[in-house]
Amino acid sequence: MNNVLLQEWKTPFQIAPFNSISDDDFTPALDEALARHKAEVAAITEQTEQPDFTNTIEALEATGYDLNRVLGVFFTMVGADSNPVREALQRNFSPKLAAHFSDISGNTALFQRILCVWSKRDDLNLTAEQSRILMLTHRGFVRSGAGLKDTSKNRMKAIKERLAELGTQFSQNLLADEQEWFIKLAKEDLAGLPSFVINAALAAGEEKNAGGPIINLSRSLIVPFLQFSTRRNLRKKAYNAWVKRGANTGKTDNRAIAAKILELRAEQADLLGYKSFAEYKLETEMAKTPKAVRDLLLSVWKPAKARAEADGAVLESMMQADGLTGSLEAWDWRFYSERRRKDLHELDEAKLKPYFQLNRMIEASFSCANRLFDLQFEPITLPLYHQDCRAWSVTRNGKHLAIFIADYFARGSKRSGAWCSAMRSQAKFPTIQTPIIINVCNFAKGDPTLLSYDDARTLFHEFGHALHQILSNVTYESVSGTSVARDFVELPSQLYEHWLTVPEVLKEFATHAETNQPMPPELLNNLLAATNYDMGFQTVEYVASAIIDLAFHDGEAPADPMALETEILKDIGMPHAIRMRHATPNFAHIFAGDGYASGYYSYMWSEMMDEDAFAAFEEANDAFDQDNATALEQNILSRGGSADAEDLYIAFRGHLPDVKALLKGRNLKF
Ligand SMILES: [Zn+2]
Repeated sequence: MNNVLLQEWKTPFQIAPFNSISDDDFTPALDEALARHKAEVAAITEQTEQPDFTNTIEALEATGYDLNRVLGVFFTMVGADSNPVREALQRNFSPKLAAHFSDISGNTALFQRILCVWSKRDDLNLTAEQSRILMLTHRGFVRSGAGLKDTSKNRMKAIKERLAELGTQFSQNLLADEQEWFIKLAKEDLAGLPSFVINAALAAGEEKNAGGPIINLSRSLIVPFLQFSTRRNLRKKAYNAWVKRGANTGKTDNRAIAAKILELRAEQADLLGYKSFAEYKLETEMAKTPKAVRDLLLSVWKPAKARAEADGAVLESMMQADGLTGSLEAWDWRFYSERRRKDLHELDEAKLKPYFQLNRMIEASFSCANRLFDLQFEPITLPLYHQDCRAWSVTRNGKHLAIFIADYFARGSKRSGAWCSAMRSQAKFPTIQTPIIINVCNFAKGDPTLLSYDDARTLFHEFGHALHQILSNVTYESVSGTSVARDFVELPSQLYEHWLTVPEVLKEFATHAETNQPMPPELLNNLLAATNYDMGFQTVEYVASAIIDLAFHDGEAPADPMALETEILKDIGMPHAIRMRHATPNFAHIFAGDGYASGYYSYMWSEMMDEDAFAAFEEANDAFDQDNATALEQNILSRGGSADAEDLYIAFRGHLPDVKALLKGRNLKF
C-alpha cells in the first residue's frame, strides 16, 4: 500500500515523517492496519500446534506493529495539534478501535489458547517477566469479558463502543467550549495585571484575531488573571465561564453524557460480576479496594479542610479591609491568596517569574537527569508536526537510548493540560526498539518564555514520566515504561518535581531573564518556604474531585450526577469559596476515557510514595546520591510494569509508605 503511514520510515531514528503525512492518509492507513492486526491474531488462533508461551502469548505481543505506528502518529497530532478534520477522524475512529479491540478480547479461540497456557503456567520455565506477561494477558482477557456467554459478550462489546464514542464527545465538547469563550480586555480591564499576564493576553488575542488582549479559558492564562486582576466583576465573569465548561446547555453540554457514561460503566462491572465499577477498576491497582482509597482521601480531607477554612477566614478579612462586604467567593480566593503570599513570604509571582525561563528550566531538568542517571541530551532536527516542537537525542556513554520531543506552548489547537506520551515505546522483543517520547504542555509563549513556579513543576513532572519511558529496560512492550498500575504511574513524575526544589538546582538555573543573575538568596529562601503555601486550598480542591470520582463509580450509577455532586459536597462540608478542581461537566480525567475513572485519587496515592522516596535522598544528605539514584533506576524506572508495583517499591525503599509522609510533605497536621 502506497500510504506513508504504513511504509518503513527511512527518517532518522525511524520517527514518523510528519512533514509528508496528510490528514487524508489516516483513514486508509488505519483500516489497513486494523486488517493486518486482525490477520496477525487470526494466524495465532488458526495454527494447529498446541498452545504454548511462544506461539500464543509472545506471538500476541508481536502483533499490532503497524497499528501502533498509525495510532502513535494520529493521537499525537489530534491531542497536540487538532483541527476539524482530525476531530472528525477521531470521532470516527474511536468506536472503530473499541470494536476492534473488543473483537480481540472476545475472541473465544484465542482465549481458549490463553487459558491452556495459563493452566500449564507452573511447568513452563518462564522468566519472571514472562510469567508476569502471561498473568497480565490472562487477567486482561478475563476482565474484558472473554469468559462471558455470547449475549453478555455482545452487550459488553456494544457498551465499550458506546463508551468510546461518549468519551470522545465529552472531550470535544470541552475543547469547543474552551475555544469559543473569551473576553476582550479594554485598557482599564488590565488593572493589577503584571506585564507577563498582559503579554500572554496579547498573544492569545493575536491568535484569535481579537485586535487586543483577551482572557480565554486556558489554565495558563485564566489562573494568573484570577490571581492579579483587581477588577472583581471581571474575575467573577471569567471564573464562572471557566467552571461552566461543558455545562453551557446546547450541543456541547456534557452533563447527560456524564450520566450515560456512569450508567454504562456500572452495567459493564455488573456483567463481569463486580459489585461496582470502582471494585472492578481498583482490583488491578496498588490500592486494590474502594475502601483503601476512601480511607486515604478522608484521612487527608479533614486536616486539609481545617487548614483551608482557617486560610479562608484570613482572606475574607483582607477582603473586608478592602471595603468589600459579603463572603469571600471562589473568584476572590486566588486574588487575596496571592496578596497574602506577598505579605507572608515577600513573594510575588511577578517578581519570581523572570527567574523561570523556559529554556533554563529545560536545561535544569536535563542537568538533574545527567547527575542522577548519567544521561546526555543532544538537540537534533527532525521533521515534526508543529514548528514549536523540539527534539533531543538521549544517550548514555555514547549509546543511543531514546528521542525526547517537547511541545511546550499553548495554542488553540491543543487540548488543555500537560501530558507525556510515547510515539514508540521501549522493547527488546521481537526486535530492539528505542523509545520516542513526547512531553506536551500549555505554557504561554513569550520572548523569552517565562514560566510560573507551577509551570516549572509541570515541566519537571512530565519529564519524570519521560524518564520512566527513556530508562525503561524490559523485554516486552506491553509492560514497558509507564505501562504500570495507575496509582503507581505518578510516582516517577511527582518524585522528579522534588529536584526543582533543590537549592543548588535553583541557584544554577533560576537566573534572571534580563540580568542573567541567579535568584537572590532571600528570594530563593522565600520561594522554598512558600512551596507549601495555600496547601489547604490545593488539597481541598483536589481531594473533593477525587471523592466525587470515587462516589460516582462505587455503587449504583447516579441518575443525576450533578445532584449527587451537590449532595456529597454538602456532606463533606466543602468550603464555600473553593470548588472542585474539575467540576463534573469538565472532568475530562474521568470522562474523556476510563483511564482515571475511579482513579483520580492516584496522584495522591503516588504522592504518599514520592514524599517517602525523596526522603531516601534527604536521609543520604545528597539530592544526587548515587546509590539511591542507581537503586531508583534499577528497581523502578527501568522496570516498567514487569513486576508488581508494591514489590518494586519495597525493593527500592525497603518498606511501603503511609499517609504521614504525605501530610508532612503538604505541611498538614496529623
Ligand atoms: Zn503525571
